[in-house]
Parts: sequence; structure tokens; C-alpha cells
Amino acid sequence: MNAASPSAEAVLGIDADALNKCVQCGLCLPHCPTFRVTGDESLSPRGRIQLMRQVQNEGAPITPEVERAFESCVQCRGCETACPSQVPYGELIEPTRQAMAKRSRARSFIFERALGVLGKPALLGLVARAALVFRRLGLVPRRFGVPADVAPEREVIPATGDDVYLFTGCIMDAWQRDVHAACARVLAAAGVGVTPTGSEAPCCGALHRHAGLGDSSHAFAERVIAALSKDDRPILVDSAGCGAAMKEYGDWLGTEEARAFSARVFDMQEWLADHLDALPKPAPLDIKLAVQDPCHLRHVQKAHLATREVLRPFVRELVELDDEGLCCGAGGIYSVLEPELAGAIRDRKCGSIERASADIVVSANPGCSMHLAAAGIAVRHPMQVIDEALRNQR
Ligand code: SF4
Ligand code: SF4
Repeated sequence: MNAASPSAEAVLGIDADALNKCVQCGLCLPHCPTFRVTGDESLSPRGRIQLMRQVQNEGAPITPEVERAFESCVQCRGCETACPSQVPYGELIEPTRQAMAKRSRARSFIFERALGVLGKPALLGLVARAALVFRRLGLVPRRFGVPADVAPEREVIPATGDDVYLFTGCIMDAWQRDVHAACARVLAAAGVGVTPTGSEAPCCGALHRHAGLGDSSHAFAERVIAALSKDDRPILVDSAGCGAAMKEYGDWLGTEEARAFSARVFDMQEWLADHLDALPKPAPLDIKLAVQDPCHLRHVQKAHLATREVLRPFVRELVELDDEGLCCGAGGIYSVLEPELAGAIRDRKCGSIERASADIVVSANPGCSMHLAAAGIAVRHPMQVIDEALRNQR
């Protein structure tokens, strides 16, 4: 093959300017979870970018080692935050993963079918109940982090008004509806009327995007936009991964409608930080709280500081983890596909949590909390802590 004319298969479709921005300085390496646990340059941001250049610019073949380097990326984007040259790593890895998905039709077919369930709430409810039964029978591997209960049996999120939407989504609606309920109660305490989005907008498409299923993620984005664009209310999201995806719909779809939609999306803590004065001021809970930042809140939305701001009035003490926001290894379905790497990355996070000696750990993303729960760490959502403080005063 002529090295100057790469095959159609080898072209990753990455924007050339974005790919050329990396100066190979290596300052991102300590912030990359896969590099930290392996010490392997090809599993670092710099190594992956170099491989992308070789494939896209020089027509290098996609060997199993190259594919492994791309597939093992957690897509946490910690490297993006760390990079002084502002390399938009998300814009590099997303087309790369989509190109990888297209190379294996069988794998894409399986992912499409498996993740397609997320857009069918009734079917997802059945899957959640079946997973619970299998879990109780000891037939679900611990690493899947299947919760010990199924949310639909426990909580109903009532519509209380039309001030804001609360995006209820798929995984959280099946397994963590109690978090939605806590959000609704906190908003009610602030005098804010909530409309849960429910089955009209059943899934944001983030996991599809993460798996390289670009067309499916676009279809989900279009469905969510159509369902929630009858008015211009703010859309509050209590899952960091979903919020990050919905804030990027404008980039995904490249339309004015999608950009206008994304501008209405707020992480729950981010929005509440601007409305804290409306909440009652109960006595703080007598607890020491550690905050685990989901990568999609810290590195993509860059809204993680709001979590501290909204929690601080409601707890005795709030402490930081000592790992500078390093990923926990959950990464969408990464913990299922890459259990060894995900487990090794989580071990580092667990060490950091232990050193914090906190009574409670909070995380604003279902994937992180389920992944940490699979290692025996009880994690709560920030809104559940605030809800408890407010309920104590009632
Ligand atoms: S991505 Fe940024 S920090 Fe990492 S090697 Fe390239 S230029 Fe340096
Ligand atoms: S996105 Fe995360 S795992 Fe992937 S290269 Fe960047 S820091 Fe490493």
C-alpha cells in the first residue's frame, strides 16, 4: 500500500487541525487513568494521538495493537483538561471509535441491539427486574454493579409544575429513580415546579456515542430534542454523563435547533447553585463528606465546582479526594468491556476514598456510583444528601 494514500478503512475522519494540535509534550500522561495503571505509552493520550496520526495521515494499518490502544480509552477526557495546548481530545477519539465500530459489523450489531433497550422504558424495566433476580441468584458478575433494588417499585416522580424539566433518562430511571425523587423534593423545597421528562425522551444516546454508534446517538438526540422543544424551559439533568451528552447535541448535530437545545441543559447542581437562596437553611448534617467528581461533570461540562457550592451549607465538613479528579474507571460500558483495566483504575480511586476517611462519598453519575458500589463503596447522589438535610428539619 502507498503510505501517502491511506485506504478508506484506515482513514479515521478526524479533523486535521484538531489532530495536529498535539505537540507531544506528555503533560497529559499523569492524568490518564489507563497510562497510570499500565505505564504503557500506547495506552496514553500522547500515544493514542500518535497512532491516530499514523493511521490517518500515513495510512498505517489498524493492527490489533492499534485497535487495542483506541478501544481501551475510557473517554474520560482528563487529558483534555490537563493539556496546555488545548487539544480537543473528545473530537479525536469520537470519530476514531466510530471508525472502529464500523470495522466490526458483528460487534456493532450486538451493541446496537443491547443498547437499543435503553430507548424502550417498558422493556428496560423488565430487564432491570430480571437482572435483580439473576443478581440474587448470584448469576450476575459483581463487576456489573447491578443494584440491590429496582427503582420503579419504589418511587413515582410526580409532575409538580412547569418551571423546569427533570430529565429522567434510562438507566437512572430503572435503577436510581430515588435520585430523581430527591431532586424533585429539593426543587419543590425551593418552590420550583418540575416536569419529569419520562418516556417521551427515554435516553440521551450517550452510551451509544461512547460505543462508537454515531448514527444511533444522533437518532436519540433528535428524539430528545423533538420531545422537549415545545417550550424553552431549562432542562435539569442529575446524571453527569447524560448532561454532558445533551450539552454536546449542538456539536453532534451541527444545527441551530440542537445548539439552542444544548443551551437549555444544566447539570442539577450547576442550576441549583444559582438558586440556593430559595432553599431553606436547615442545620447541617453531622457528617464528613467526600466528593467524587464524575469525569463528564469535571472534564466535559466543567461544572464540578457547583457540587461543592450546593453541598457546603448542608454538611459539617466537605473534603476533596487527593487524586485530582482521576477517572474511577466506569466510563459508560467500559467496566463491562474492559473489566481488568476498569478494576485497576477503580482500585486507585478506592485508595483515594479510603485516605479521605469520610462518612459518605457523593457522585453525580449513575455509572460511577454503580461501579464504585461493585467494589463495596456506598455512594450517594449530592441531591440525596441535601434532601436528607431538608427532610430533617421538616
Ligand atoms: S494532548 Fe496535550 S498535553 Fe498531551 S501530549 Fe499532546 S499537547 Fe501534550
Ligand atoms: S480520555 Fe481518559 S483514558 Fe482516554 S486518553 Fe484521555 S485521559 Fe486517557
